[in-house]
Amino acid sequence: MEEKWKRKLTKVQYRVLAEKGTEIPFTSKFVKHSEKGKYICVACGNVLFDSETKFNSYCGWPSFWDAKKGAVKFHTDKSFFIKRTEVVCAKCGGHLGHVFNDGPKEHGGKRFCINGVALGFKKK
Ligand SMILES: [Zn+2]
Repeated sequence: MEEKWKRKLTKVQYRVLAEKGTEIPFTSKFVKHSEKGKYICVACGNVLFDSETKFNSYCGWPSFWDAKKGAVKFHTDKSFFIKRTEVVCAKCGGHLGHVFNDGPKEHGGKRFCINGVALGFKKK
């Protein structure tokens, strides 16, 4: 899988998906992206988020209040001395970002903070 990823992904994408890196905030074209459609895993094509659940959190990364059912998995991440919940693609295991509990309350209070380089987009 790692070798396949190395061929398919750019250096930055590989650093995020395989090595759990974080892209520089406000660098992703998806931060202010508001077209209707579906966001997919750039490594395997798994449909992860719907544009309907995207919101502007001003954190610098594409943010969603929910993921597609069964599309992502969660891991407890204890790096950097704070407990965070890591979000990975349920299909290929690629690192996507983290989920926090300070999202819009009217939608359940979750904020999926996702690296834009880990995403692809399919227009509706
Ligand atoms: Zn994937």
